[in-house]
Amino acid sequence: RESARLFLRRNTFVLFTVAAVALGVVLGFGLRPYKLSIREVKYFSFPGELLMRMLQMLVLPLIVSSLVTGISSLDSKASGKMGVWAVIYYMVTTFIAVFIGIIMVVIIRPGKGNRDSPVSSSGNIEPVQAADAFLDLIRNMFPPNLVEACFKQYKTVYKKTVFTKNMTIALNMTDANITESNSTSNLTQVLQTIQETVEEMVPMPGSSGGVNALGLVVFSMCFGLVIGNMKQQGHALREFFDSLNNAIMHLVSIIIWYAPVGILFLIAGKIVEMKDLAEVGGQLGMYTVSVIVGLLFHGLVVLPLLYFLVTRKNPYSFIGGLLQALITALGTSSSSATLPITFRCLEENNHVDKRVTRFVLPVGATINMDGTALYEAVAAIFIAQVNNMELDFGQILTISITATAASIGAAGIPQAGLVTMVIVLTSVGLPTEDITLIIAVDWFLDRLRTTTNVLGDSLGAGIVEHLSRQDLQNQDAEIGNSVIEE
Ligand code: ASP
Repeated sequence: RESARLFLRRNTFVLFTVAAVALGVVLGFGLRPYKLSIREVKYFSFPGELLMRMLQMLVLPLIVSSLVTGISSLDSKASGKMGVWAVIYYMVTTFIAVFIGIIMVVIIRPGKGNRDSPVSSSGNIEPVQAADAFLDLIRNMFPPNLVEACFKQYKTVYKKTVFTKNMTIALNMTDANITESNSTSNLTQVLQTIQETVEEMVPMPGSSGGVNALGLVVFSMCFGLVIGNMKQQGHALREFFDSLNNAIMHLVSIIIWYAPVGILFLIAGKIVEMKDLAEVGGQLGMYTVSVIVGLLFHGLVVLPLLYFLVTRKNPYSFIGGLLQALITALGTSSSSATLPITFRCLEENNHVDKRVTRFVLPVGATINMDGTALYEAVAAIFIAQVNNMELDFGQILTISITATAASIGAAGIPQAGLVTMVIVLTSVGLPTEDITLIIAVDWFLDRLRTTTNVLGDSLGAGIVEHLSRQDLQNQDAEIGNSVIEE
């Protein structure tokens, strides 16, 4: 009895969250027959929207305070080594993810033999050069104005293409719906959907989706490094950011009580509004299967194996401690909104050293997206197959590289990967408007790839901690010595 009570006490949140998911699914399917209007679905999902807003509210101060304290509490040798391990882990796992994606889509061939004629190029859309997209990535690392970076990202090259793409989606939707029924109320609904799609796909400056997280990450890292080296002079700043970080984590522990409610409504709301599964045709179905199998293999076999090989510890009990973060990722489709919960799971359940989590988690949530990279590779090759385009080795290599870049460039917000797909498609001359082919299932795949992204970041923190344990111990000993001397 005593141990059962202990188990319940330790796992209250996780149990609530799992129950919320189950209840959300039941409620969502239960309400589907009532065919709620878009407005009604919006009202219904409101508690979920609130959770998203609360989590996103914490992300900015959390990223800055944790990076500054994390890095300033390490000596520069230790942080340098930790940084190198993290980058190696990110690169290796992202490439493996892309590779798995390519293998899946080549074996399953979800898009084979659809169109007779080869692709017509993207008409008058000015193609996005991979080089331009790459320059944008670097530009974002150095925001000229820090305050502006909190709400704005550079996206110069995407603008035109994204706009054209949205118009194509809009036109397709309008066509389809008008032929279905000629009523004007239907048209209003279609127009509303168009507006929502555009809003969702192009994060407006000012919306939390527009945060230039990359710029803030780079700034906070440099700032942390500098105040870490300032000895006595930097003391006040170190204390300030440490205290800010603790305060934010306290807020997280309050919000976490609300998380199950939010997740319940996020999931139920999405199930209510999703299209009929029967409408997802054979090819799209096979494409979905390719992405899902790839993600499962990467998340449940490859990453755990890597964790085991490096640490010799049981990866699945580590993943067990992350359950709540993984479910939050599934519910919110956003790895940055999940970040506060990821921190909590790693520090409280898995006891990962705070100096490591504070350093690598914000960086990981911003640039390390295995799930997104895998999906981008599958989607690009699927679109090539649909267009009967045979890709040679060079083109597949180009897709691998641009899919990696696109995953680094994607923000940790819902469906960001769909927008950065443009880079991958244009790099091998595929028509960007064909993104419309995969839009119907993207909301679902987005949830799964976000979960994989969060899993990759978290296992990465465990691996980096293991590889840095000597440095961490040395530092502990030094701190102990200086305390004794004092
Ligand atoms: N939603 C994903 C994330 O937040 C990014 C993506 O769209 O792939 O990690």
